[in-house]
Amino acid sequence: CGIIGCAGRGGETLDTLMHGLSKLEYRGYDSAGVALSNEELSVRRKAGTLDALRSSLSSQTLLDGDDSTVEGDGLHDNPVGIGHTRWSTHGPPTDDNAHPHRDCTGRVAVIHNGIIENYQELRDELAAEGHEFHSDTDTEVVPHLIETALDTGMAPEEAVRSAVSRLEGAYAICAVIAGVDRVFAARNDSPLVLGISEEAYFLASDVPAFREFTDQVVYLDDGEFAVINKNGWRVTDVDGTVVEKSINTIEWDP
Ligand code: GLU
Repeated sequence: CGIIGCAGRGGETLDTLMHGLSKLEYRGYDSAGVALSNEELSVRRKAGTLDALRSSLSSQTLLDGDDSTVEGDGLHDNPVGIGHTRWSTHGPPTDDNAHPHRDCTGRVAVIHNGIIENYQELRDELAAEGHEFHSDTDTEVVPHLIETALDTGMAPEEAVRSAVSRLEGAYAICAVIAGVDRVFAARNDSPLVLGISEEAYFLASDVPAFREFTDQVVYLDDGEFAVINKNGWRVTDVDGTVVEKSINTIEWDP
């Protein structure tokens, strides 16, 4: 029900995501989760309140059965991340149904607001190809579709666009891919805004998630895709053609 993506906050990515989620609490939710993309993905998700998620995040160590930390060299210094609060529509509020959801290989993590109407058909198709599912959600087809597209040799951004082009329904989606210093996003019938600051870029379902860091925003329209990294942002259509967007200044204080 609430989405935040962030690139460029250095070692503060996780705090920034948790801060953003706390600002989206008013939307209501039953589960929460985060993913950081380093050379590997770090994912933590929990049914319940943000406090339940917070207390399961021990200092800087994340991850399901993995001791990856957000400290170190290279991408570790500048991870990108996504965070989600869920208002369940498909499957009860359990840890396994909480977002982010991953593909079979664990290199793709996706968060989603909304409902994917044709998920059963996509799930049956993917299952027939050998994909295993671990949740009851409509969302879980998305990381598997991205995985399939990556396996055909597509570049990350193209793979996300290709996967999203298969979806019918309402969605705001953010995705991260292990070893890729970008956050990918798409929207259709569900709000998504991009935030621009001097040092960092954001994606969110609503401005309060990042208002503390910037008053410069770009409102995405249906059918648009966005990519952020620590150096910039870009909005395209489904074919990857750049869409010129205007930057708006938010008048209200954080
Ligand atoms: N349909 C998805 C789910 O049930 C997303 C719900 C939401 O918007 O939070 O997990």
